[in-house]
Amino acid sequence: MRAIIFNGESAEFIADYPVSQRQANESLIEVQIAALCSTDREILRGYRPDFKGVLGHEFVGIVRESDTSHLIGQRVVGEINLSCGTCLYCLSGRANHCSERLTLGINHKDGACADFLTLPTELLHVVPDGLPSEIAVFCEPLAAALRITEQVDFPAGVPVAIVGDGRLALMICQALAASTSAVLTVIGRHPEKLELFAPWATTLTKPQGSYEVVIDASGSPESLALSIALTRSEGTLVMKSTYAGTASIDMSEVVVRELRIQGSRCGPFEPALRLLDEGRVALPPIELYAPEDSDAAFASRAFKAAFDFRR
Ligand SMILES: [Zn+2]
Ligand SMILES: [Zn+2]
Repeated sequence: MRAIIFNGESAEFIADYPVSQRQANESLIEVQIAALCSTDREILRGYRPDFKGVLGHEFVGIVRESDTSHLIGQRVVGEINLSCGTCLYCLSGRANHCSERLTLGINHKDGACADFLTLPTELLHVVPDGLPSEIAVFCEPLAAALRITEQVDFPAGVPVAIVGDGRLALMICQALAASTSAVLTVIGRHPEKLELFAPWATTLTKPQGSYEVVIDASGSPESLALSIALTRSEGTLVMKSTYAGTASIDMSEVVVRELRIQGSRCGPFEPALRLLDEGRVALPPIELYAPEDSDAAFASRAFKAAFDFRR
């Protein structure tokens, strides 16, 4: 099958990569669209030095083989964390933190940038009929944005700042606008990108004010100090970006001002699919690339670049 792999140094298109064999609990899925995100680009920069294999964790595909027969032929999206079911995290309702976790296209599990992928059937979610694959492919990142609403309280009118004006920030902004009545401010450096946020948030190119909740979605360790400065004492700083390398922050300020720091990763798929299906999230169109054009796709500055595996 066609696949785009990380070979330890760069992304590489391979025309005859072996199709992975599904385990008994898994389904075999024929990929329609596999989208790239900053995590994939961070992998190329060394974020997961121990990962080699098929890239990609955001996809829409059609189930071709499964022990759950009613799923065969259905269009699905899939959660990306494979858990063992028996460790202390799995047994205490935190399967996304399973100590034996494998992660699609990120950690010891071949990913979605290929003609086929395998994934545990329990992680699959059927895409509503009327929802185009080009939009459904946003389910995974939107779910990750919605994760914040499971972790942090947003009383009506609470002032919230989102630091960053990229893809992740836009997803978070709309997730919060659709599911809370927080008052949103987005702080970024690019006036042309900030325009996209205007329907839901006040936008600022120069940081100002203070906020009960600050969400760092900048993708850059340098902005962390800014995010801390914007967070009110006893307020919450939500960390949404992963990077290759480390970031340094002034821990004393966190202690003295009694800030809560909340990491935030993967989130709930069903509410994300619902928001997409109801058209309550407006996203720029994805840019589709042939799998052979992997260099161009990774170099793309589009809001969302994706591979089209449909023939
Ligand atoms: Zn992603
Ligand atoms: Zn486990």
